[in-house]
Amino acid sequence: MEKDPQNKGTMHEMDGVKPPKSTDASSINRIKLSRNKLPGTGEFIQGILEGNRAFLSRAITLIESTNVKHQEQAAEIVTACLPHANNSVRIGITGVPGVGKSTFIEAFGKHLTGLGKKVAVLAIDPSSSIGKGSILGDKTRMEALVKDENAFIRPSPSGDSLGGVAQKTREAIVLCEAAGFDTIIIETIGVGQSETAVHSMVDFFLLLKLAGAGDELQGIKRGIIEMADAIVINKADGDNIRAAKLAKAEFARALHLYPIKESTWQPKVTTCSALFGESVADVWHIIEEYLSLTKGSSYFEQKRRAQNKYWLLKTINQQLKDQFYSHPRVKKELEKQLELIEKDKVTPFEAAKVLLALSIK
Ligand code: GDP
Repeated sequence: MEKDPQNKGTMHEMDGVKPPKSTDASSINRIKLSRNKLPGTGEFIQGILEGNRAFLSRAITLIESTNVKHQEQAAEIVTACLPHANNSVRIGITGVPGVGKSTFIEAFGKHLTGLGKKVAVLAIDPSSSIGKGSILGDKTRMEALVKDENAFIRPSPSGDSLGGVAQKTREAIVLCEAAGFDTIIIETIGVGQSETAVHSMVDFFLLLKLAGAGDELQGIKRGIIEMADAIVINKADGDNIRAAKLAKAEFARALHLYPIKESTWQPKVTTCSALFGESVADVWHIIEEYLSLTKGSSYFEQKRRAQNKYWLLKTINQQLKDQFYSHPRVKKELEKQLELIEKDKVTPFEAAKVLLALSIK
């Protein structure tokens, strides 16, 4: 970042800005988190609303816990935080491994905290449940941002389904916002349908790409380009600058071929060098332009309301499914019915009827 004189200028301008209330030392120390004892729900809520990152972090751990008591407490905390959430911009970032997501998020995040913003970085990586470790698990990633007291970074929750992982992240967004984080970044590497899940919980969706590699090479799935509100060609530095500029022009032409979005926003393409912190500020300007358009037309609010409805239905589906499969009698009977199907002794429809009836007993 320091390599970019523009960024330095912006940082200087912000010297006189008073830190948000939740980050000043006196408020951080008001409530202390004990290492061993699990705080009460009230303590959690107070800690989060005061912007205490330790409480925020422990509360997200509760959300991610499989323990029923923890889940109940987490649900109470999320409900209490809900009226304090919503005041933010939520940005989704996707791109194949190696495109520079973490380098970009680090540079972008530092730029935003330099502007006086509070940045939370969450991730959705369904593959982390298959034992590979999460995309944000590597401690060396985003080192500077991790140390920034106006940033909060949380690796992807693990889980055996994208639905479960996505729901936990969605709840974590609520807690981060209640804790005063006004810019939420959700990173995904695009395994399975994870881009769609991220798209359904953010205001702005950003696709990172590289110049000179075809979509096949970059592993970009059909439909992702349509979802993007901005495409950023990263690694536009050194010998790569010319290729990046060409790619930018190509994408800009291609994007014009897609139908106009409901928001009336025309997706933008830009180049940047995350490594050298160059043009990272331009990406934020694009997002500001988007916010100004969609807030002016009230599309921003409409989209969030539609997303809430979508998540209500998603949550019900998810919970019904979880309840069904964790029902002790269903678990036992499922094995039996599967065997019967194997031997052609029962149709799948009859078996389903038996199991569903059991689950509501
Ligand atoms: P991710 O897997 O998408 O999170 O990618 P990383 O941020 O880990 O970056 C992958 C590699 O690309 C690292 O070696 C970075 O140093 C490098 N990289 C990231 N951004 C840039 C950039 O803007 N320019 C150049 N030249 N290299 C970059």
